[in-house]
Amino acid sequence: MNDLLARDAQYVWHPFTQMKTAGSPLVITGASGSYYIDDAGNKYLDCNSSWWTNVHGHGEPRIGKAIAEQYQKLDHIIFAGATHPAAIEVSERVVKLLPDALQKVFFSDNGSTSVEVALKMAFQYWYNKETVKKRVLALDGAYHGDTFGAMSVGQRGYFNKPFEHLFFEVDFLDFPTPENEQELLSQAEVLFKTGEFAALILEPLVQGSAGMRMYSVSFLEALSRLARNHGVLVIFDEVMTGWGRTGKLFAMDHCTIAPDIVCLSKGLTGGILPLGLTVATTEVFDAFLDEEKTKALLHGHSFTGNAISCAAACANLSIFDEKETFERIEQICNAHAAFLEKLKTDKRVTNLRQRGTILAFEIVMKEPDGYFSRLFEYIHRFFLDEGMFIRPLGNTLFLNPPYSFTSEQLQHVYAAIGRLLDRIEEDFKQV
Ligand code: PMP
Repeated sequence: MNDLLARDAQYVWHPFTQMKTAGSPLVITGASGSYYIDDAGNKYLDCNSSWWTNVHGHGEPRIGKAIAEQYQKLDHIIFAGATHPAAIEVSERVVKLLPDALQKVFFSDNGSTSVEVALKMAFQYWYNKETVKKRVLALDGAYHGDTFGAMSVGQRGYFNKPFEHLFFEVDFLDFPTPENEQELLSQAEVLFKTGEFAALILEPLVQGSAGMRMYSVSFLEALSRLARNHGVLVIFDEVMTGWGRTGKLFAMDHCTIAPDIVCLSKGLTGGILPLGLTVATTEVFDAFLDEEKTKALLHGHSFTGNAISCAAACANLSIFDEKETFERIEQICNAHAAFLEKLKTDKRVTNLRQRGTILAFEIVMKEPDGYFSRLFEYIHRFFLDEGMFIRPLGNTLFLNPPYSFTSEQLQHVYAAIGRLLDRIEEDFKQV
């Protein structure tokens, strides 16, 4: 074991990792464009965008320059009783990109905190209005982060079992499919009619951690409209779906209805630095205005509005202003579609799906064994040997690459998937 790995094993506790049995992690000492580079100089295509964060590739020079310049001017300051140009610019520019009603930007540090803030806004909105509404509706399979509020509105299961007794009560609708959509809308209507629901929270169009599960624009619109018509606040968690992932800048851009609150993070800074935003309508914001100080949103983090993260976000926004960025996104969308068309008749895969730059399918197994599938290590290892970093979700294989991926890099990955399927067929005799 090399020195870095020995020190890592001695001192580091990695996320989502059983430290007793997990193999050694890769030691990455560099990253450039679509690639990671390890300590031996090997290159790996970053096929899942560094936990779905990276949008323009690693080492994007304009983001790097913005970060360096910001550091020279102003690094970090308290964000209560003080403000700074980079945070003002991010707020102004993000608001201009969102539907008109969303006007007020609250800063935090990551996806989970952006969701915590959204939930606190929703609960306190009703509290400030002296209206008792305590229930929340979410979708089966939801994932909104690992803090307590975010876990409460997420799928219950082995990820959060030890904490389940501490969660607040949430109603979950089954995951929508063309067959059950109408039934789910009827169920939601019955629930909303109780008048007890404070909020509906959704990952719009694609549930990430549930395995890149996708549902229709019409269902998203119908459920959101139903909520709105019954005085239920609509929260869109665009932490994963934002920043071009679904082919448009935001998943909500596919819809004719806007949420009351939206959560943004991951690709917000190009995926380079942590930053979360919770953007609310003026209607929500106004419910916190009062002579009484306790009616304010009494929430904040030490690094709220970090100036360097904000500068990275401004540079990211400029890159999204360029039409070439959307051309690159479209190129990935088209390449994915052509690859899926070819895979259509392959019996070793099922449930082929795509939304924008996200492509996913399940590998057929005789006995599918969920997130902790024995296939996980196998697939991960296979792709490392191919010079690709891919982290599947159980037997769900998905690609959501940064938009720096070239056509050649994509074709290279698709070809490796073909080889993977041949190998699995031989080793697991799955069909
Ligand atoms: N919401 C969604 C939809 C996510 O996919 C994630 C993270 N994968 C989060 C929230 C939590 O974000 P973070 O990991 O930055 O806390």
